[in-house]
Amino acid sequence: MEADIIAKELESPFSVLTSDRFSLSALRLLVCDGGCGRGISFSKACAQVDYIYHSTPAGRAKPQIHAFTEIFPTGSAVLMEFIVSRTRTDPALNTLLSFIPQIEEASARLQSDTEEGASGKSETEWSARLAVHLFTPLSQSHDYILDKQSARKTAKCPCSCNRMLNYGDALIGNPKTWCGRFDILIGRDISPDVGATVLNAELVDEMPSDEESLAEDFSQIEVKSDELQKYLSQLISETVVFSFYQKKQFPSLSLVPSIGKHRANFNQTSHKALLGEGDSAGA
Ligand SMILES: [Zn+2]
Repeated sequence: MEADIIAKELESPFSVLTSDRFSLSALRLLVCDGGCGRGISFSKACAQVDYIYHSTPAGRAKPQIHAFTEIFPTGSAVLMEFIVSRTRTDPALNTLLSFIPQIEEASARLQSDTEEGASGKSETEWSARLAVHLFTPLSQSHDYILDKQSARKTAKCPCSCNRMLNYGDALIGNPKTWCGRFDILIGRDISPDVGATVLNAELVDEMPSDEESLAEDFSQIEVKSDELQKYLSQLISETVVFSFYQKKQFPSLSLVPSIGKHRANFNQTSHKALLGEGDSAGA
């Protein structure tokens, strides 16, 4: 695909990233069981969070939200430079540009053709498809492991590509605090940069897009969806632990990604990120 065509295709998604429509919100950790002195697995962790608020000129408390381009200024500048002048010297940009022409094929390969996989019962299958056809092509390292203790492992990717799968020890954490296994770890020579967890919940509400109702809707989600609350605590504990792990290895890091991926149509998937506040994340 020509650079001009890709640049044109990126204009609209890029403008969305500059808007509030797909924004990020920092979460403040209010209370959790991560420091109670005994080991708790991610799936059983308990963490309660709230948004960080600011006052509007009218005196209303509104959650602070940040556009993607505000949180990732370097990446935004690289992308903007490509759109405007087709400059493509950044290796991460080249990885992204290489993936774009493959999106349709990747989308097809993420769709399970077995009833069990399609119904979302096989986390292992879904993790394998994601690792091979989404996360690895979008990673500069191309190294990943799937949790070697996952049930019903297969040697090869469940889709027709038949690629051999990589399994390894995906255990992260401290036995005296939160710990557990990620479904997928991605990183060069498998020193993980990104941890991913596959959410297999039947019910995962979309986070509200209307910023006016963010706070209200968030509390309503907590009440009406025990399932979502369960996964939120798991994602929060994984994000906090993985952040400590990364920060110890790379002290200069300021933002550590953690991905919770819900089974949904690839093209319609909403991507969410939890940003833990530095101080409160240390609880
Ligand atoms: Zn495959």
